[in-house]
Amino acid sequence: DATLPSNFIRNEIEADLAAGRYQTVVTRFPPEPNGYLHLGHAKSIILNFEMAKAFGGRCHLRFDDTNPEKESEAFARSIEEAVAWLGYDWGEHRYYASDTFETMYRCAEVLIERGLAYVDSQSAEAIRAQRGTLTEPGQESPFRNRPREESLALFRRMRAGEFPNGAHVVRAKIDMAHPNLNLRDPVIYRIRHVPHYRTGTAWCIYPTYTFAHPIEDAIEGVTHSLCTLEFEDQRPFYEWLLEALADAGLFSRPLPRQIEFARLNLEYTVLSKRKLIELVAQGVVTGWDDPRMPTLAGARRRGYCPEGFRLFVERTGIAKAESWIDYAVFEEAQRDALNEIAPRRIAILEPLELVLTNFPPEAVEWCVAPNHPQKPEWGTRPLPFTQRLWIERSDFMEVPVKGFKRLSPGAEVRLRYGFVIRCTGCEKDANGRVTRVFAEYYPDSKSGTPGADAYKPKGAIHWLCAKHAVAAEARLYDRLFTQPIPGAPGPDGTPRSFLDDLNPNALTTVTVFVEPQAAAAPPETRFQFERHGYFVTDRFDHRPDAPVFNRTVALKSGWKR
Ligand code: ATP
Ligand code: MG
Ligand code: MG
Repeated sequence: DATLPSNFIRNEIEADLAAGRYQTVVTRFPPEPNGYLHLGHAKSIILNFEMAKAFGGRCHLRFDDTNPEKESEAFARSIEEAVAWLGYDWGEHRYYASDTFETMYRCAEVLIERGLAYVDSQSAEAIRAQRGTLTEPGQESPFRNRPREESLALFRRMRAGEFPNGAHVVRAKIDMAHPNLNLRDPVIYRIRHVPHYRTGTAWCIYPTYTFAHPIEDAIEGVTHSLCTLEFEDQRPFYEWLLEALADAGLFSRPLPRQIEFARLNLEYTVLSKRKLIELVAQGVVTGWDDPRMPTLAGARRRGYCPEGFRLFVERTGIAKAESWIDYAVFEEAQRDALNEIAPRRIAILEPLELVLTNFPPEAVEWCVAPNHPQKPEWGTRPLPFTQRLWIERSDFMEVPVKGFKRLSPGAEVRLRYGFVIRCTGCEKDANGRVTRVFAEYYPDSKSGTPGADAYKPKGAIHWLCAKHAVAAEARLYDRLFTQPIPGAPGPDGTPRSFLDDLNPNALTTVTVFVEPQAAAAPPETRFQFERHGYFVTDRFDHRPDAPVFNRTVALKSGWKR
């Protein structure tokens, strides 16, 4: 059962192979190492790696590190970790765009030599002012027809560091009246006296993204360059550039082909490195891997699983048109994937003591609970049943509301996997808060024994033996934002910030009781706590002697739009 069995990109690739345009399929995931990957990147990773896999091809991991300012080796490592966590292996094919600066420089020289590029000595503002609009043609630069030798000499001096930032740029020479503004002599090289995290001070000129990206694809032999829709307008330049360089003999055909797909837009979160940086910088979260963060590092720590990401991308599909997806769709995919992989355990999130007055004080009745209700092959585990138990505070009401099927004085319930009990009363403190519930158990009602069926209580609740249960810290996570589109302007049009829509209750920390086997699990072990949701032992803070569980997602969403 392949991931993404049908989508328009798969069809395009199939058609290309059938037409003999390409013999193999090579894709790439090309992050800029200037931040941590987010949930949107997961869509691109899954699409690129799965399409390569589907056609027996390969997918490269390429660091698109042509911007010296904000990139770092630490970001590059975090990206590798996230891609590997999602389950993908780029093998030998890890590339850095910065390793190819010399080739890119040579490509620009060749364009100048062939009269297809020139050095423009105007300011950035002047160039922008001459660009024209969708309805007005642009104006040609006074340097547009400068002799090739002069441009070439200037370009070499730019590289040698003879000029300050902004003194000159290199522009492709295409058409200042072209209806596509991206073909109005786009800038391909600029001066930036900024050290690069890998090349140091070897370069003081850097290629622009639009120039570098097609060249990187061609150098690596990429066949299908899958990118998000905002690059659709850049495709004509992508093609112009690679055709020009192939004509010059720098690259051989077939050239890579760019195909655009709709980016992931997810409600109740933000998917933009700039905003994520702000959340970290402002201390709204504890760091990039805070489980509330929509980063892949945060998602991992939160307990989301790679299969859930694949299921989500599969369900939402690869489309050619932008849309917004409700966070609930992501959560549902995670629940469905976690359901398959998470063994069941019991946790009491808000403990209330239950005393069985007719149960012998020192006795233990061993009950049997399945590790997964739909997977008998996962086996069972013993649960000790004793006189003193923990139940959920919300499972008892001294004065039950209409329709309440759980515990209240006089009512009967089944203690799941255990016995049926009848509540006889409760004890309260000076404030009227219930401190203890009393009940009697029916000795012949044990689950799985012949007598059990004679009892037909209306409700069943979960419980833990107070003597065996282990106290743990539970971090109850919820969505980071209260609004579908954080920061969207109010009805009266007032501008707002995404920080105005932070959910103050995105984290609640409580002390809970869990089964000893759950507490003893290593970090990053996932469980379903029955009736509550999916939890994971924290990747960094959990220790068997100081257990920490993160709630990944509740069994049912409490969100209403
Ligand atoms: P951001 O917009 O958050 O700054 P970016 O697009 O600048 O992210 P890159 O490192 O350049 O980040 O992205 C690497 C790849 O991931 C690109 O091919 C990009 O198109 C893709 N990508 C980024 N965001 C999304 C998204 N929301 N949905 C799908 N693909 C995405
Ligand atoms: Mg970017
Ligand atoms: Mg972007």
